[in-house]
Amino acid sequence: MSKNKSSSGEVYLVGAGPGDPGLVTLRAKECIENADAIVYDHLANPQMLSWARDDAEIIYAGKEPGGSQVSQQGIDAVMVEKAREGKQVVRLKGGDPFVFGRGAEEAQAIADAGIPFEVVPGITSAIAGPAYAGIPMTHRAHNSHVTFFTGHEDPAKAESAIDYAALAKLGGTQVMLMGVERLGSITSETLKQGVRSDMPVALVRSATTGQQETLTGTLEDIAKKAVASAFKAPAVAVFGEVVGLRDSLNWYEKLPLLG
Ligand code: SAH
Repeated sequence: MSKNKSSSGEVYLVGAGPGDPGLVTLRAKECIENADAIVYDHLANPQMLSWARDDAEIIYAGKEPGGSQVSQQGIDAVMVEKAREGKQVVRLKGGDPFVFGRGAEEAQAIADAGIPFEVVPGITSAIAGPAYAGIPMTHRAHNSHVTFFTGHEDPAKAESAIDYAALAKLGGTQVMLMGVERLGSITSETLKQGVRSDMPVALVRSATTGQQETLTGTLEDIAKKAVASAFKAPAVAVFGEVVGLRDSLNWYEKLPLLG
């Protein structure tokens, strides 16, 4: 990464990992250390900003559900503008930048503006969340494929983008990002497709941080349990037999200093 400000700027779409600052790549840290400007997400752990240069410009571009909204166009515009000023811009995104969360759309906006860019993959919460709850994505005895889907769809779409019938037929391990608020309708649609009601389900919130919490149940009761315990986002939901492995593999939540 060059610090030569006379050269054209560049945007680095950097995965900030799921929360624990230990779970970022060496390349991510290097990009943060060298950046002239950092545009960060509400899911990116702000502790990582302490790696930035003292003179780096730090721009918050969070879009918390129900919170103050920074428009997607506004985020794209600021990255393009800073890069056109010749700056090395880091776009710090929670988890992996290309797993949901509009990273792909941001890359397209940057590419359309003719600005050079690099993608620094990160550890996605879809895999790290379950791992920190003691739930492996795969186990030879239980599944041979994994599906990621989003429970929060583009409101502009007329029909549900979730093909419940296909998911029910597919089985395996299924991980849902976003959509904890819609868990009731998601589980009832799934039950209508004939998936067994005692299918194990786990919700992992604030995964890999000191606030991590896991709620387990079945397809039948998980939505009710989530409401009863006021289980909040951000959380990943895991559906599948592998959830049962948590009984013996839960490790992180047993650490003495958690919380
Ligand atoms: N690119 C991100 C996902 C962005 S979509 C990634 O790869 O992780 C935002 C969703 O990610 C949240 O609604 C939640 O489902 C999930 N998520 C992100 N960080 C999380 C965390 N620390 N714990 C649990 N879920 C998380």
